[in-house]
Amino acid sequence: MTDNDAYGTLEFRNVVKEYRVRGAHKTLRAVNDVSFTLEAGKTIALVGESGSGKSTIAKTILQLERPTSGGVFIDGKPVPRRGRALKRYRKDVQMVFQDPFASLNPFHTIEHHLERPIKLHKAVDKGQSVHDRVIELLERVNLTPAEPIARRRPHELSGGQRQRVAIARALAPGSRFLIADEPVSMLDVSIRLGVLNLLARLQREENLGVLYITHDLATARHFSDEIMVMYRGDVVERGPADQVILDPQHDYTKTLLQAAPDPDRLGQMRDEVRAALAAAKG
Ligand code: ADP
Ligand code: MG
Repeated sequence: MTDNDAYGTLEFRNVVKEYRVRGAHKTLRAVNDVSFTLEAGKTIALVGESGSGKSTIAKTILQLERPTSGGVFIDGKPVPRRGRALKRYRKDVQMVFQDPFASLNPFHTIEHHLERPIKLHKAVDKGQSVHDRVIELLERVNLTPAEPIARRRPHELSGGQRQRVAIARALAPGSRFLIADEPVSMLDVSIRLGVLNLLARLQREENLGVLYITHDLATARHFSDEIMVMYRGDVVERGPADQVILDPQHDYTKTLLQAAPDPDRLGQMRDEVRAALAAAKG
């Protein structure tokens, strides 16, 4: 689905987010003056260890958290706080969470999960039924044969299949931007690449802007144009993906690179990613 006046940039501008520390008279600065611009068609990787502020950034973009100062801008305008304009923003900016099981309702079928955003945002092509759109989405994320899968419930699928459903749901409204918060870190290592590869293909085909949140520098390099490294709320290093990985400037980035899984695995993963990307381009 294309939209002539589709959003082109999502900007995070000088965002500070402080949380009150429970039982103490102090605050914790989870995000410290972070700025970046995500363009449609580009992928930015946000890399950092646990607790560095990555999910807080995701939640702030999704309007699940309000920044203490600074703001989020869509095509240069502040993200609307209410009404139809906010609904439009929610349609265009979608999230894939870390845990697909927690983000799907165990009592509902896969079809039900996909129908909701389609109906809410009237996201069908002319003459297309909601059911046809559900099937199209499942096929788009390689969940085939789609008809029987549509009738299943989340526990009847594998972890990788559930995450594909979550991705299909994020695409359902015809989104422009995807915030993927550690989308494969809860999946079995053997299927991570397949899911990342799917995200990379959809990103290209739909010209999505993707914020790929991860603590894995190897995949960050191969799936993104730019890398931002976070440490305790600060962006300590940023630049083109290859440059950050091959010529890290900040000590923390160097530590992250050294702490990456054993170099042989990393090399093997790189080769696998290259081969998969080549095949996808093929
Ligand atoms: P990451 O996703 O990089 O692991 P988070 O953004 O989840 O990091 O957390 C950043 C920091 O903010 C952590 O120290 C975390 O404990 C704290 N934090 C996150 N959410 C809350 C909250 N709702 N209340 C208080 N502190 C929070
Ligand atoms: Mg997180």
